[in-house]
Amino acid sequence: MQILRTRLELDQYLAGISHRSLGFVPTMGALHLGHISLILESKKRCQVTGVSIFVNPTQFGANEDFSKYPRPEADDLKRCEQAQVDFVWLPSEADIYPTPESKKYFPHQSPLFDVLCGAFRPGHFAGVVQVVNLLLEAVVPSHLFLGEKDYQQFVILKNFVAEKALPVLVLGCPTLREPDGLALSSRNQYLQPPQREVAASLYLALICGRNKFKRGETNPVEIMEEITENLDSQFIVQYLKLVDAETLQEVNIAHPGNRLIAAAFLGGTRLIDNISL
Ligand code: AMP
Repeated sequence: MQILRTRLELDQYLAGISHRSLGFVPTMGALHLGHISLILESKKRCQVTGVSIFVNPTQFGANEDFSKYPRPEADDLKRCEQAQVDFVWLPSEADIYPTPESKKYFPHQSPLFDVLCGAFRPGHFAGVVQVVNLLLEAVVPSHLFLGEKDYQQFVILKNFVAEKALPVLVLGCPTLREPDGLALSSRNQYLQPPQREVAASLYLALICGRNKFKRGETNPVEIMEEITENLDSQFIVQYLKLVDAETLQEVNIAHPGNRLIAAAFLGGTRLIDNISL
C-alpha cells in the first residue's frame, strides 16, 4: 500500500500506474467497518482502490467538532493496509486549499443544501461539494463510492457529478450497522455508555415507522407518530421526515422507495440515520 502525503506524491503515483478502473473512497478518517465496506465494494469492482483521509475544515460550522474530530492516523493506515487498499492519500490543508481564494471557491449551489441536515448546518454541503470536487480533480477516479448513511450527501454529490457531467460513476453503498442496529459512525465514540445503550433506538424507531407503512398506513403524519412513540426518550429530535429519495422533498402520501430520514441528539452527540420505505 502506498501512503501519499502530498499532491505531488499523488500525481507521481498516478502517473506511474496503469489501470482501466480506479475506485475512490473519500473519508475523514477514524475508519470503521462502514468505511471498509466501501473499500471492499471498490476492490470488487475496480482494478485500483484509493482512499483519502482529510478532515475538511470548510464543511464544519463554527460550533462543530472540527478540532476535536478523531484523527487516529496509525490505526486508519493499518485498517487500509488490512483491506488491501492500493493507496491512501493524506493531503495537508495546503494541498487541498493552496490559496486563501481556493478556500472560498464553492463550485456548486443547490436548494438541496438547505433542507434536512442543511437547514441546521449552513454551509456544510457547500463545503462537502467543494472538497469532493477538489479530491476528484486530483485523483480522477472512474468510480466514486459513497455511503447511504449520509443519504443527503450522497444525493447532493450524485447530482453534482451529473450536472457537471464529470466522468465518474457514483455508487451508493448500504449503511453498515452494529449488531443492535446503530449505524456505524466515527462520532459514536462520543457516546457515553448509557447513551450508547439506547442509541440503536433511532434505527429501531425508523423500522417501526416502515412497519406501519407496510401494514397499509400511507399518511406521513401517522408514520412519524409511530416513530416518535418508539424513540427512546433520551433522544432530542432535530428533524424527522419522509422524503422523496431523489428530490429530498417531503411527501404527502408515502410510497415504496421514499426515505425516512432523521437527525437527533443524544446528549451532545448528533446522530443521523435513514432507511428506505
Ligand atoms: P466520513 O469519514 O464520515 O466522511 O465518511 C466517509 C464515507 O463513508 C462516506 O461516504 C460515508 O457515507 C461512508 N460511511 C460512513 N459511515 C458509514 C456506514 N455506517 N456504512 C456505510 N458507509 C458509511
